[in-house]
Amino acid sequence: MLDINAITDQTELNEYIKSISGKTDTKELIQEFVLGIIKNSTNILEEIDWQSQRPDKGTISLSNVEDHIVDIMKYLISVMLEFDIDTNGFEQLLIQKSLVIRKKIDYDKFLNGVRRKNKTIAFDIDDVIANFRKTFIYYLEKRGFDIEGLEELQHYSLFKNYSITHNRAEQIKHESVGDGIYSALELIDDNIPLIISNLYERFNVVFLTSRPYPQYRRILKDTIFFLDYYNIKCDCVVFGREKTQYLENDTKVVAFFEDHPKHAIEMASHGIKTFVMKMPYNVDYPFNNKKIKLINNWNEIKTIVNKIKE
Ligand SMILES: [Mg+2]
Repeated sequence: MLDINAITDQTELNEYIKSISGKTDTKELIQEFVLGIIKNSTNILEEIDWQSQRPDKGTISLSNVEDHIVDIMKYLISVMLEFDIDTNGFEQLLIQKSLVIRKKIDYDKFLNGVRRKNKTIAFDIDDVIANFRKTFIYYLEKRGFDIEGLEELQHYSLFKNYSITHNRAEQIKHESVGDGIYSALELIDDNIPLIISNLYERFNVVFLTSRPYPQYRRILKDTIFFLDYYNIKCDCVVFGREKTQYLENDTKVVAFFEDHPKHAIEMASHGIKTFVMKMPYNVDYPFNNKKIKLINNWNEIKTIVNKIKE
């Protein structure tokens, strides 16, 4: 494994660059390092004779290419040090990024029609799999809101209690995403990873979530890490407005699990059997739709999916 400490120990080098360039201002130094990255990147281009109008010198020196790559990485580390970015955690960030890219490729393949199984079971994430409501209430408490009695309130009108404006409520939601609310959620039921793992053996598993991605870029990463942390298997996660588009294009969804009345009705309008997880805000909702059934917990979900033929 890469010893990140050994290769990032270049504070001395940075000090030297400062002394010979006479540049001490952060802005100037970053410019110096970024130009170093660009220069060494063009050196790699030179190695491959990329300009078609020029005669090809015929050979590529791999040792030169390696040398340029090392220089690029050294300059990148200089940028990190200048920004006081902790290089110790960087290895982990690279591994995490690789996970996100791998998953994104899998999701795209699925959306382009690559299927493991004949039928698909779909789930909403928040308040079906992840206990978003609970975490959001804690978040409000941390922000100084008096949360007493909030447990019984309707999630979707949580803010009404404080007589705050719609814009301010949106602002707080926005800040909660930035504070990483989606990266620290508990499960609704501890058996979910196992139940979904068994399901995955028989069906495609898709998560359809209203989480506002790509409006907030970190949501993709936070969602993938959440699923990975709990070892929850799936073929694809579909975000935001793409949910409806997905359902219009996939006729293989045989069951959908949701908590929000509005989304449940929308899914049922596509002819999909929709199961609504009982919550204080949906239990008395007048669904009037034969495709929609209220359920109490994950034991019921297990029973329902066991009855579906592959
Ligand atoms: Mg939900």
